[in-house]
Amino acid sequence: MNPAAVDVLVVGCGPAGASAAAAAASRGLSVLIVERRRQVGQPVQCAEFVPLPLAGLAQSTQAVRQPIRGMNTCLPSGSWVYADLPGLMIDRAVFDQALAARAVAAGAQLSTGTVLAALDAASHGAIVEDGGGARTIVYRLLIAADGPHSAVARLLGLPPLASLLTRQYTVPLSASWPDTDVWLSDAYPGGYAWLFPRGRRAHVGVGLTGSARQMKGVLDALHDSLVKAGRVASTVLRRTGGAIPVAGLRPRLAVGRVLFAGDAAGLTHPVTGAGIAAAVASGEYAGQAAAAWLAGRSRALEAYEAELRDVFGASLARAVARRQALWQATRRTDAEFRRAWAAFPEYFQAPWASHAAPQGVAFAS
Ligand SMILES: Cc1cc2nc3c(=O)[nH]c(=O)nc-3n(C[C@H](O)[C@H](O)[C@H](O)COP(=O)(O)OP(=O)(O)OC[C@H]3O[C@@H](n4cnc5c(N)ncnc54)[C@H](O)[C@@H]3O)c2cc1C
Repeated sequence: MNPAAVDVLVVGCGPAGASAAAAAASRGLSVLIVERRRQVGQPVQCAEFVPLPLAGLAQSTQAVRQPIRGMNTCLPSGSWVYADLPGLMIDRAVFDQALAARAVAAGAQLSTGTVLAALDAASHGAIVEDGGGARTIVYRLLIAADGPHSAVARLLGLPPLASLLTRQYTVPLSASWPDTDVWLSDAYPGGYAWLFPRGRRAHVGVGLTGSARQMKGVLDALHDSLVKAGRVASTVLRRTGGAIPVAGLRPRLAVGRVLFAGDAAGLTHPVTGAGIAAAVASGEYAGQAAAAWLAGRSRALEAYEAELRDVFGASLARAVARRQALWQATRRTDAEFRRAWAAFPEYFQAPWASHAAPQGVAFAS
């Protein structure tokens, strides 16, 4: 039986919610996670790449499936550029389930198949629904980790986050491949296309501004060209997709007794679509902030907001600006795409200055 009153109610059990719950529960708080899905992490809506800083955590979850050496980017002219951007391909379902198990081991309760349906922010009550009907959970603090279409935000009357739509096929890979591949061109307005290898399979996907029907056509064309090139088979093993927030951070990350984390906070990188690492980090901060605030540190929620803006604000703001400049330009050559894509040194240069590539990243051109 789930409790009717908790210190912290976490909505959503993706990487942000599970990390928040683990951090709060390990500090002695009573924590309930409500997750809409019947099984955490399923179905996977992800290309499953994590950068090296997340390697330790990924390895501890037994989710690692393949190392990645770097990224190949195909520019509109057809030229390919390699950049050392190492990381790991993971099994996202295994990863998310391991993070959820870690939260439960720390003392959190997890209620799957349970949807947040309504909020009474004034009396700190959340109405959740599962197979057995609706019930009210009274919380002292709520952590909104419910993804890009955050129900918490909607129920608080906050505007939705602008996002890019994606569509992805998982297909058999003809030969193992060490890198992630990305295509940039006007064929993918507002976004890009990708092939991310995972052992004997690859995720082939597109993210763009357009209708679902247009997206299917664009993805089918990419898939066909890869089949013709002999890189992948024509069989589609799995289809998925989802939204990627592209507007940067929400105007407010702490609203009354609610903290936003992960995609619900707008933390996914608007240019690359990467959001797992930021979801884990923001979830941990949110759990720590909850514990500090409930222990009497009255400014802990403002400190959470300040910390997230400090850590992520500048890079997200740059990404939003670069993306907007690219797609508002009347003409897009290789040079424009290089300025707007995070695997090129131009991306890190201020438009008015010339800087070297960030330390530790070697670029070839
Ligand atoms: C196609 C695609 C490919 C991607 N590829 C990558 C990649 O390769 N690398 C990377 O770093 N990032 C990638 N991302 C982004 C990444 O998946 C997200 O940034 C990450 O999942 C964010 O984690 P989160 O915990 O904030 O949200 P989510 O993982 O979305 O978790 C939110 C959870 O909340 C639950 N929920 C929602 N509403 C409710 C409700 N009302 N009540 C209860 N539960 C609710 C959902 O079921 C879900 O489990 C990709 C995204 C997409 C769409």
